[in-house]
Amino acid sequence: VAKNGGGNGYAFFRPHMHEDVSELVELRQALREAVETHQLQLHYQPKISGRTGQVNGVEALLRWIHPVRGPISPAVFIPIAERFGLINAIGAWVIDEACRQMGAWQAQGSKVRVAVNLSSHQLRNACIVEQVRDALQRHEVQPGQLVCEITESVAMERSQAAKGIIEGLSGIGVVVSIDDFGTGYSSLSSLRQMRVSELKIDREFVMDVHTSKDARAIVDAIVRLAHALDLRVVAEGVETAAQRDALIELGCDELQGFFFARPMPPQDLMKQGSPLMGAACSGSAEQALFA
Ligand code: C2E
Ligand code: MG
Ligand code: MG
Ligand code: MG
Repeated sequence: VAKNGGGNGYAFFRPHMHEDVSELVELRQALREAVETHQLQLHYQPKISGRTGQVNGVEALLRWIHPVRGPISPAVFIPIAERFGLINAIGAWVIDEACRQMGAWQAQGSKVRVAVNLSSHQLRNACIVEQVRDALQRHEVQPGQLVCEITESVAMERSQAAKGIIEGLSGIGVVVSIDDFGTGYSSLSSLRQMRVSELKIDREFVMDVHTSKDARAIVDAIVRLAHALDLRVVAEGVETAAQRDALIELGCDELQGFFFARPMPPQDLMKQGSPLMGAACSGSAEQALFA
């Protein structure tokens, strides 16, 4: 039925497909099994220091490797998980697995910050702060090593619950980052009150930063605002050297994107010559950074 999509291989799982009850039941079952049978994995994408070119941290990105259909994008299955009430279980697994991995890397001598993405549903779950604290303790990781990325639209919701959870997370020492910044509507006073530590400039502005006066002005304004409030600024979706140069010139603290490295399985991050091993990333694009 749904195999006639744009050839991206994701058609079957498109979230807004027709409301066929049996199909929904099947999807829910498939996702449940995915959780139970370890079809979910975290891949990690490096965040590079704009000043030194070193890897400052990584972002954990969820992957569903379906046994028949192959990899399925989180942009597709997270909304389904939210809709079927599976997101809290999946989110809890993400937090625990990211902390476990961070602990393992630390034991091998690589102290690297790991960022996880939190869904809006997790910000309605009062237990989340405790969940995070427990995971940090279980894997003996310092709270300041964990970053929680929350999209701007969710963080700035009027909901007191979400604000309370952001307070709680920063209260236990976790770094709170506002993801996709620039696409929502932030109240500047909220940014300060909520003890956020990082803004991630959305790819929409990064994409055009070197060609569009407007995009450049927006990035410039975000960087100045962030620095005036003592926040770190990360640019996401950096794909070219020209974008990188413009972003560094504008003062972005960290850069992340395919130009440096794609999200990859954890074992690849630790391979010889890989970002986490301290040496320059492999590949000519990455070499240029250190030239
Ligand atoms: P996000 O947190 O804004 O993550 C950035 C997305 O951009 C990722 O897509 C990443 O693979 C992609 N990306 C990174 N560099 C580049 C680049 O240079 N060019 C382009 N075109 N894309 C780039 P991904 O992994 O498909 O994730 C999509 C979204 O799904 C994420 O957006 C995040 O909102 C959500 N997500 C991913 N993992 C989780 C998770 O564990 N929990 C929750 N709740 N959401 C997640
Ligand atoms: Mg993110
Ligand atoms: Mg983002
Ligand atoms: Mg984004």
